[in-house]
Order: sequence, then C-alpha cells, then structure tokens
Amino acid sequence: MASTVVAPETTAAETTLREMTHWINGQKVSGKSGRFGDVFNPATGKVQAKVPLANSEELNAAVAAAKAAFPAWSAQPPLRRARVMFRFRELFEQNMDKFAEIITSEHGKVFSDAKGEATRGLEVVEFATGIPHLLKGEYSEKVGSDVDSWSMRQPLGVVAGITPFNFPAMVPMWMFPVALACGNTFVLKPSERDPGASMLIAELLKEAGLPDGVFNVVHGDKESVDGLLEHADVKAISFVGSTPIAEYVYAKGTSHGKRVQALGGAKNHMIVMPDADLDQAADALVGAAYGSAGERCMAISIAVAVGHETADTLRTKVMERIEKLVIAPGMDKTSDLGPLVTKIHLDRVSGYLDTGKSEGAELVVDGRKGALPQGEGFFLGATLFDHVKPEMRIYKEEIFGPVLGLVRTSNFKTALELINEHEFGNGTSIFTRDGDTAREFASTVQAGMVGINVPIPVPMAFHSFGGWKRSLFGDHAIYGPEGVRFYTRIKTVTARWPTGIRAGVDTTMPTLG
Ligand code: NAD
Repeated sequence: MASTVVAPETTAAETTLREMTHWINGQKVSGKSGRFGDVFNPATGKVQAKVPLANSEELNAAVAAAKAAFPAWSAQPPLRRARVMFRFRELFEQNMDKFAEIITSEHGKVFSDAKGEATRGLEVVEFATGIPHLLKGEYSEKVGSDVDSWSMRQPLGVVAGITPFNFPAMVPMWMFPVALACGNTFVLKPSERDPGASMLIAELLKEAGLPDGVFNVVHGDKESVDGLLEHADVKAISFVGSTPIAEYVYAKGTSHGKRVQALGGAKNHMIVMPDADLDQAADALVGAAYGSAGERCMAISIAVAVGHETADTLRTKVMERIEKLVIAPGMDKTSDLGPLVTKIHLDRVSGYLDTGKSEGAELVVDGRKGALPQGEGFFLGATLFDHVKPEMRIYKEEIFGPVLGLVRTSNFKTALELINEHEFGNGTSIFTRDGDTAREFASTVQAGMVGINVPIPVPMAFHSFGGWKRSLFGDHAIYGPEGVRFYTRIKTVTARWPTGIRAGVDTTMPTLG
C-alpha cells in the first residue's frame, strides 16, 4: 500500500552542533559532568545538539536554588503568583510558532500537531491563573462553644517533574503551572531526547517576572531521576512516562517519603458498534491511531469492531484513508505523519510488525513498504493488523508507533470485557448511536478517561487527567482540581474566641458534650 511521500531536507542549523545548558537559579548553566546525550532531528536522522546529562552536584544546585526560593515565593499572595502566570500565558502565545518549531525539529511531529500540544498545555496555565479561587479553604463556625474551625491548603516545598519525550511542552505544562501557582518551587527533568521546549519555557517564565530559583531545569537520565527520588529536600514527584519506569519512580519516591503521582503507558481501545456512523468512526480512528505517528499515550492502538460486517467495512474505510496519508517531515505543510523520535524507537516499533505476523495476525498494511521519504530520517508509514487476538504481544504491549490492531468480537459485552481485562486503563472510546450502550460503557468500563463518539478524550484543564490500573501509580490524577490537591497539603485550625472563660484542667478527650 503506497502512501504519498515527501523527502526531508537538511537545515543549515544542523551543520553546527549546539551544546544545550541547564537552567538553574534563573541562569543558563553549562553542563559540568562531561556526559552528553544526542538530540536528533528525526526527519533527517542527524544529531542537531548535545544535551548535558547532570551529575549530583548539578542536581543538588538546582534543588538548593528551589529550596532557597521557596519561603519568599510561597509567602506571595496567590493573586500575585497568578499574575506571573497571566504574563507567562501572553508570552507563550506570542512564541507559539517558536515552540512548535522546536518541538517538530526535536520530536518529529507535524508542526500543526506541535501547536496543538502547546495550546493544550497553555490551557493548564489558564487554569492556574484562577488559583486564588482554587485555594479557598473551608470554614465552620461554632464547632464548639466559642470555637470555630477552618482548613486551608498550603504548598509542599520543592517539587519535581520528570517528563517523557512525546509531549515536550504539554506534559511539563500539566505540572509546573499548578505547582507554582500553589506556591511550590519546581525542578523539571525533561526528556533528554527533546529538551529544547523546556528551556524556552524557563526563559519566558523569567521574562514574565518569576523570581530566580522558582523554576529550574536539569537535563539528565537515570542518574538525575534517582537523585531527585532520593533527595531529602524534594517533597513531591510528578512523573509521566512508560509503565516500568513509572512503577519504579513510584516505589522509590514513596520509599523516600515523597508524595508521588506516576503516569504510565497505555493500550487504548475504541469499540465500534454496528450502529455507528462508520465514516465518522473511520475518520476518528485514523486520526487517533496515526496522529503524531502513534506516539501519544492517548492514541487508539486497538479498534474493537462488533460484528464481522462492521469489521469488514471499518477495515476497508481505514485502508482507504491510510492510502491518502502523507508521510513527510513535520515542517512540511502537507505532512500527516512525521518520523518517529529516534532510530532505536523506529527499530523497536518495526520489530512489532514481524512479531505480529509471526503471532498469526494479518498484516494488512505494512508501514515499511511503499517509498518512505529518502535519507536517514526515522520514518514508518501507517500500519494495520487485522485478526488481532488478546493473547498476542501486539495486543498486550504498548507499541507507541503508527500501528493499529483490529480485533473482531461478536457483541458489546465481549468488547467491554477485553478493555476491562487489559493491563492498562488510560483512555478508551466507543462509537455508537445507541444511548443505552454508551451509558453502560461509561459507567462500567475500567479506564480513567472515556470518550463517547470522541476518539481521544483528553480532559480539559479544569478537569483532571489520569488513567486506571497500570496506567497510573499514586492517588492523584494530574492538573485540574486533582493537581491542586496533589501540590498542596491541608491544614485545619481550631480556634476559641473569646478566651476569657476558664474551664479548668480536663484530661478527657474534648467533645461537644
Ligand atoms: P520513559 O519512561 O522512557 O522516560 C520518561 C522519563 O523517565 C524521561 O525523563 C527519562 O529520562 C526517564 N527515564 C528513562 N529511563 C529511566 C530509568 N531507567 N530510570 C529513571 N528514569 C528513567 O518514557 P518515554 O519513552 O520518554 O515516553 C513514552 C512513554 O510515556 C509511553 O509509555 C507513553 O505511554 C508514556 N506517556 C504516558 C502519558 C500518560 O499520561 N499516562 C503521557 C505521555 C506519555
């Protein structure tokens, strides 16, 4: 199956190798560890920059800067902190194209998709500008004679974010706007594969008036992640990434006394019922399976068709749409699908195509075939498997590439059971015109985010994002009201006024009597 292809171009910027820096205490700081990671341009396959990988000294400097900045920042009235977020919001919007260019050049995704990611991140900043309202406490008058009681939410201290490669701007923005607005200070350890967006965020926060030390960026790998997990001055960790690392981060972070939210991987199913509008379902499926080359934690990677006729029609309609997809560098305006992030990831995803075939699934469209863009870019075309079975690895494991599996079932109940028995429970979706089925699905499906005729149900910033089962370790989802709860702790005050009445010594438990 030949998809349309466009060849990538090498940009002039790639001829000189940039050395990136950390951002500590409001300044760019060169790496001192002597260790570096390669930042590729996935469209050309060339290394475009070197990112320093922090050692413990650099990590400690960032945490120390955040700790020193905490007393003054947390003492600011919430409205002042909100005003910094307002200014950051304006600056971010003015720099939207710059963000998208950085994301596309380091991650590979299509420019318009990169803008979409940045916009979704910005919505969390907008949410955080309402922090004075969100931090309002609760008050009870007369809990006893002349006694009143109230509770308030206070920040934790230094908190850290560890983020994945697939949303280099949006995922950090799920974390720091809420954390900072609540009065915490922040150390971000972004993905070493596409760290550029986090540096622009740091510069714009400073320009917006954020005091030095409140937001810091330390680049690195396992060494700096472990450093954050063990550091006595880091009070909470927000992690987003793959499930094995999320589980590790949760276990290690909590064993060091920290509050941890660790969001992991996914295998998101879309049920297509026989009564659905199959053109609408196929459009949605192709967008959700192949957008961002499948490198989204909310990508649909399994379509569950109810009834053979539904499956056959859906398969044909998906194939027709795959044929029209343009595979090209993300800066090409005609591109629907950019490259994968690295050669290692491309090889891993391609390996699943052989695995699926050997397991007995039908490889209907092989993304390696057809003329992909020339050169050394990490391209793979849209891939479709049919007759995928629950015992296959291509069904069970997260592939994280442009690979969609079609599972055939005879009824809704079996389709629902498949989702409920899967290891992951991030997002899921159903396409149907039947209200009863949709309602039962929403009520009983074992997943954290549910779409009804919506393929990628990422909650808006004023709700919260989080999966179930092995897609999230911890008690709090991220951003929205759950984010405020995660980044604050509750304090309850009980006060007696006037103090004039002496009751004498009483050693029994105080009760209302
Ligand atoms: P990853 O787990 O490899 O890396 C995530 C972060 O952990 C990075 O900052 C990385 O430097 C660090 N890390 C990697 N290996 C480590 C180790 N051994 N010890 C300590 N730290 C380590 O994930 P990725 O490949 O960057 O991102 C893709 C994954 O993220 C997918 O599984 C995807 O589903 C998941 N993801 C989940 C969500 C969600 O909301 N649930 C959102 C986005 C991405």
